[in-house]
Amino acid sequence: MVEIQCPECGEKGCDKCDDRGFIPLTSCPNRMVSSELRQVIRLADFYEKGLPPVAGGALDQSNRFIEACEFLWGEQAHLKRVTGKA
Ligand SMILES: [Zn+2]
Repeated sequence: MVEIQCPECGEKGCDKCDDRGFIPLTSCPNRMVSSELRQVIRLADFYEKGLPPVAGGALDQSNRFIEACEFLWGEQAHLKRVTGKA
């Protein structure tokens, strides 16, 4: 079973997580996230990789380019996990 950090208490323990700090992941978390929040997560990921959400940044890129980047970065992360190499 996969568990994630409790979003209410950040691993401190609370009523929502029975004082465990973690909650079981029973379905895809994207089902509980709004499209607006998914966009913020997406932009935060691009910001982490050096493309800030400013003019000329992530918001000015075509959706196809953004999708291509996400696909390629996902493949790179998968290869890194499988081979242990960057
Ligand atoms: Zn909690």
